[in-house]
Amino acid sequence: MNKHEAIKQTKLYLFDMDGTLYLGDRLYDFTIELLQTIKACGGKYLFMTNNSSKSVADYIKKLAKFGIEATREDFITSSQATAYYLKEHHKDQTLYVCGTNSLKKELEMEGFTVTENLDEVECIVMGFDTELTFKKLEDVSKLLLTRPELPYIATNPDLVCPTEYGSVPDCGSVCGMIFNATGKKPIVIGKPSPLMPQLAMSHTGFAKDETAVFGDRIYTDVKSGLNAGILSVLVMSGETTYEILEASEEKPHFVMESAKEILEILKEK
Ligand SMILES: [Mg+2]
Repeated sequence: MNKHEAIKQTKLYLFDMDGTLYLGDRLYDFTIELLQTIKACGGKYLFMTNNSSKSVADYIKKLAKFGIEATREDFITSSQATAYYLKEHHKDQTLYVCGTNSLKKELEMEGFTVTENLDEVECIVMGFDTELTFKKLEDVSKLLLTRPELPYIATNPDLVCPTEYGSVPDCGSVCGMIFNATGKKPIVIGKPSPLMPQLAMSHTGFAKDETAVFGDRIYTDVKSGLNAGILSVLVMSGETTYEILEASEEKPHFVMESAKEILEILKEK
């Protein structure tokens, strides 16, 4: 199947956000028309993000600033996937969350108790913590060293998060610091785990051969699609360079300069 046929067959579009639809605070010029065109063609899109520093409400506000109307149902986030995983595997456990207040609130809304009292902790959750303090690093290290049996979970494995000026450390880098101190590695929920694409398909009812993931990173976006057994497209509008693509063992099914190519294909008759 060529790229055109693959896009024509796609009904459910799972979009990475940063680096795919916008970069930091700059919306790409094709994004609004692309989203409108997917709907007009009878398709559906979901925003799929590993970023756990922002809750869905924050994303809805961010997209509204860009002129994109979105509701909770339009998102699959690593925070949601983490809540889903916790409910399945660690129901009713009291959580220590090394993450933002947004993430804590989101987990509380899903029915979990979040505590800073280390004696009460039954499970440790790491997120992309833009409110990180040394105290939190110390707490997590202490918990892992003194109670090695505690479940230890991370929302996403990303080493860096892109900004307009370059990158800042993300959850994976902080987990690296914890690993250096404790020798412990977390179970990771977000991309490249297939959990978010799987959740998206089960929520919407679309089949694997109607679903595709589009993202600017091979080691998270593209791999989550490959791991879920769906079409996986790399866009070159974000973090990945052709040198990185060349050197990567994992390859996407297709490469696009940007997601604008989807729009061009959908507009062809
Ligand atoms: Mg991205």
